[in-house]
Amino acid sequence: MTADVQWSLSWIRDVAARVSERKSEFTTLDREIGDADHGENLNRGFTAVVERIDGLEQPPGTIGDVLKLVATTLMSTVGGASGPLYGTAFLRASKAAAVPELDGQAASALISAALEGVSTRGKAVVGEKTMIDAWAPAAAAAAQSAENGEDAAQVFAAAAQAAAQGAEETIELKATKGRASYLGERSVGHKDPGATTTALILESAARTVQ
Ligand code: ADP
Ligand code: MG
Ligand code: MG
Repeated sequence: MTADVQWSLSWIRDVAARVSERKSEFTTLDREIGDADHGENLNRGFTAVVERIDGLEQPPGTIGDVLKLVATTLMSTVGGASGPLYGTAFLRASKAAAVPELDGQAASALISAALEGVSTRGKAVVGEKTMIDAWAPAAAAAAQSAENGEDAAQVFAAAAQAAAQGAEETIELKATKGRASYLGERSVGHKDPGATTTALILESAARTVQ
């Protein structure tokens, strides 16, 4: 599938399906270093997103239109830290993707914009055991892939792989932002829930565009 408007709808539906399947895994991660609601938070948000997609009266004109619907729905339904963070990520991404189809450069720009949104909103930097530890390596890998002339499918695949690795590497980190930072050293040894769901979002993008 080319990375067009139809793909963006498939991507978001796939995210919703995977979040629903894996929500107890995310809540378990959040039980270790947070307040045990990350799976429910995201599931509530993406369930509402799918309802809004199903209710659309006419097909969206651009990928940005789809991502903006995701952003506003997550902001109004998720709550917690991750609602505004993912909401801002998708809002910035929507502005970067105001086109009917993505090439490799545009796919990379979408991911960089999402990273910028999360950074601006949450003020975390790499190494603080947050979703930034997945978004940042993903954006770097995407930029490198686009630079090499690769297409959107390859860019998302590179980003997904880097995000998954970044999420894995949060296990060794001590949290200094968000709720997990209250645990200090005791946050070490647990995987960050938000970094894990960021990897899911990018894995869904890569899988659906193949
Ligand atoms: P809450 O912590 O309010 O219960 P969630 O459980 O839904 O919200 O989301 C927690 C996730 O949010 C964390 O695992 C982390 O990845 C992310 N997070 C929290 N604070 C920040 C921040 N300042 N910057 C980036 N990500 C953050
Ligand atoms: Mg939580
Ligand atoms: Mg909470």
